[in-house]
Amino acid sequence: MSRIYNFSAGPAILPLEVLQEAQTDLADYKGSGMSVMEMSHRGKEYDAIHAEAIANARELMGLGDDYAVLFLQGGASFQFAMIPMNFLEQGQVADYVSAGSWGAAAVKQARIVGNVNLAAECQKDIPTRMPAAAEMKWTPGAAYSHVTTNETISGTQLRDIPETGSPLIADMSSDILSRPLDYAKFAMVYAGAQKNLGPSGLALVAIRKDLAAKGSITLPTMLKYQTHIDENSLYNTPPCFGIYMLGLTLRWMKRKGLANLFQQNRDKAQMLYDVIDASGYYRGTAVRESRSDMNVTFRLPTEEAEALFIKQASEAGMKQLKGHRSVGGIRASVYNAFPVAGVEALVSFMKDFEKRNG
Ligand SMILES: *Cc1c(COP(=O)(O)O)cnc(C)c1O
Repeated sequence: MSRIYNFSAGPAILPLEVLQEAQTDLADYKGSGMSVMEMSHRGKEYDAIHAEAIANARELMGLGDDYAVLFLQGGASFQFAMIPMNFLEQGQVADYVSAGSWGAAAVKQARIVGNVNLAAECQKDIPTRMPAAAEMKWTPGAAYSHVTTNETISGTQLRDIPETGSPLIADMSSDILSRPLDYAKFAMVYAGAQKNLGPSGLALVAIRKDLAAKGSITLPTMLKYQTHIDENSLYNTPPCFGIYMLGLTLRWMKRKGLANLFQQNRDKAQMLYDVIDASGYYRGTAVRESRSDMNVTFRLPTEEAEALFIKQASEAGMKQLKGHRSVGGIRASVYNAFPVAGVEALVSFMKDFEKRNG
């Protein structure tokens, strides 16, 4: 077996231990004689998988009983629609911070449903950045406020969680459980699983039960958070295998220890930023205070040099370093599961490439 260093922004690298454990149990899950893909979502084997994944998500995020943990389909993008449909009634306003492509995508969906106030907007700024707390203008009595804690495409991360005066909802798709954070500050957080948690097709949602209870009652059953709370995410057939994989990843996080993972994430990103800062050749695309520990974005002097960089890195086993198609450049995504050795390999490749081409 030969594994590449996979710098993909998502679907992203999973811990090898998790893949191997799934492989061991693939055709015969723990003596059940079936795969997790083949078993009833109401049977005892799956029930244990589901319950443990919820319990571990709760424990890792430090959530109390006032929160529900849900597994919903449609990824993070479906949450962009479901949030305003549930919580943005006629005559109300929702506050959104739009600081990148994902924040803007969330705004676009909310505007289809109701009134949006842009509490802060900087998604077109170059270099890319997150707005400072002082820039954010919150509406008194807003239905809710929405932030994107990590802008995966522009490589920026919201360092300080703002006080918004209304229930705060966060898209944490690309940095959930990657750093120390007080999750109790949020009325709801959600994340598409395919960056830090597991395979695609699934969103992890943690929602305060009092917020869910305020959801619109005129929606179809599947669209209400309350349904999924009442049915423990088993109203219909959930993506059982994805939840199983997410559960294995959460177990892996517990074994590693969150504090260790958090420190490692800082160190990995810093190693790359150190090369960028020491070089006149590479140029970071985000302002320093906003730089992401998850997605390290930078440019080379020319697009030709970038193409060569991506080609030669790929030949050396470092794949998926091409920046998002909307912005170009280079993006190294180094989520929880990305190994330190892969970052070290990229660091030495970058130094060598600069020597040869700079
Ligand atoms: C990837 C991503 C999304 C979209 O996730 P899907 O699961 O594909 O819908 C939304 N927000 C952020 C911050 C992302 O990184």
